[in-house]
Amino acid sequence: KDPRPGADQHDVRHMLYPFANPSHLSRHPPLVIERGAGVYVYDGNGKRYLDGQGGLWNVNVGHGREEIKEAIRAQLDRISFYSIFGGTSNRPAIELADVLCRWTAQEGMARVFFSSGGSEANEAAYKLARQYWRQVGQPMRHKIISLKRAYHGVTLGALSANGITPYRAPFEPLLAGFIQVETPHVYRNPFTTDPQALGRLCAQLLEREIEFQGPDSVAAFVAEPVQGAGGVIVPPANFWPLVREVCDRHRVLLIADEVVTGFGRIGSEMGSRLWGVKPDMMVFAKGINSGYIPLGATMANARVCDAFVTTDEALFSSNAFLHGNTYAGHPLACVAAIANLEIIEKEKLHLNAGKVGAYLMERLQSIQDKHRYIGDVRGQGLMIGVELVADKKTRAPLDLSLNVGARISDACREAGVLLRNLADTFIISPPLTFTHANADEMVDAIDDAMSQLD
Ligand code: PLP
Repeated sequence: KDPRPGADQHDVRHMLYPFANPSHLSRHPPLVIERGAGVYVYDGNGKRYLDGQGGLWNVNVGHGREEIKEAIRAQLDRISFYSIFGGTSNRPAIELADVLCRWTAQEGMARVFFSSGGSEANEAAYKLARQYWRQVGQPMRHKIISLKRAYHGVTLGALSANGITPYRAPFEPLLAGFIQVETPHVYRNPFTTDPQALGRLCAQLLEREIEFQGPDSVAAFVAEPVQGAGGVIVPPANFWPLVREVCDRHRVLLIADEVVTGFGRIGSEMGSRLWGVKPDMMVFAKGINSGYIPLGATMANARVCDAFVTTDEALFSSNAFLHGNTYAGHPLACVAAIANLEIIEKEKLHLNAGKVGAYLMERLQSIQDKHRYIGDVRGQGLMIGVELVADKKTRAPLDLSLNVGARISDACREAGVLLRNLADTFIISPPLTFTHANADEMVDAIDDAMSQLD
C-alpha cells in the first residue's frame, strides 16, 4: 500500500522521472509535495518540511506569494495566452522586457528573447551568437566553448555545452563545435592551492584553446557565474574579469548563464555583477519568476542586437533572429515575473541572501570538524554546496555506491528538512526569504543526521 495519500503508485508505474532510476523509485517512491507557504512545504499527511532546495533552486521569493497569485489570476481574467509571433504581441511580455532591461542596465543588456526555461534560453543564446556572426559577415565563427563541470541544460545544444560526463555520455556524439576547458575548482584541481593563481591559469587555458581552435572559428564562451549542478563551484575573484579580457582580445562573445545566479541568489542582483563583469549575453530562467509558471529569457547587449537591425523592412527575412517557441513571452509567465521581480526589489532579497547565506556557511563550517565526512563547505549567498568525502586529508571521494549522501539527506527529510544530494554534494538553495532561524533549523538537522551516520 502506498503510504502517500492519493498516489497509489501511479507515478511509479506511469511516469519516467527526470534523472531517476525507475527501479529505485519503485522501492522508494518520491515524496509528494502538496502545498507550500513561504520557506515551508507540506506533504499529503500534513507533514511540514523546510525547503532547503527552494524547489529546484528557483523559488526565490518563497511559496504561495499572494502578489504573484493575484497577478496570474488577473491576467487569466484578461487573456491566458496570445502569441508574440508574426506581428502580434501581448502586454505582459512588453512590460517584462522593459523591467528586465532596467534590471540589467548595469550590464548593458539591450533586448530580451523569451522562451520557457533554462535549456531553451541557453539554446537561444548559442543560436543568437551563431547568427550574430553571420550577420556581421563571419559565418565561420560557430564554436561554443564552455567549462568542465558546467550545467547548461538538456536540449542537444545545451547538453553539448555541459561539462558533466554522466549526463553527456548516453547521448554521444553530441554537437560538433562544442568544446570544454578546465574550470577553476579551488577544492579539486591538480594545479595549485592558490585561488588567484588558479583563476589566472584557467583563463590562460581558455585563451590557449581559443588560439588552438583559431579565434575566427569561435562564436562564444559560456559559463555560470557560480557553477551549480557541477557541485557549487565558486570561481576565484579574478577569473571572470580575466575571461572578459580574453574574450575581448579575440572578439569572442561572452555569455553568462545566470539561470541560477540571476535575481539575487548569490547576494547580488546578478551573478555577473558580483564579479564586476559585463557579458554580451545573459541567460535567465528559474528565479526570474520563482517557478510560478515556466519562463526563460535570453538577453543581449547592443553589440549583438544591433547586427539584426538593418534597412531591410520585411517582417520575416534572413535578418530576423530565426528562432522561437510557441510559448515565448507567455503572458501568465510574464506577469508572474513582473510581480516576482517587484518582490525581490522591494524586500531587497539579494541582500538577505548575502547576509543569511554567510551565516549559514559559518554555521556549516562550525560543524565541519565534528563530522568525518564533511570535506568542503563552499558557496556564495544562498547557493551552497557541502561536499562529502571519504578522507578529509586526501580529499578522496566517497564510493558513491555507499549512498552516504542519500542516507544523510533521507535522515534530514525524516527530520523535516529537504536538501538535494547530487553525487555526495548537498546542494543548499532555499528561498531568498530564508531567516537566521531557518538556517539554524537546517544546520541542526544536518548535524543530527551526520551524528547518526558517524
Ligand atoms: N543553466 C543552469 C545554470 C541550470 O542550473 C539549469 C538547470 O538547473 C539550466 C540551465 C537548465 O534549465 P531548465 O532545467 O529550466 O531547462
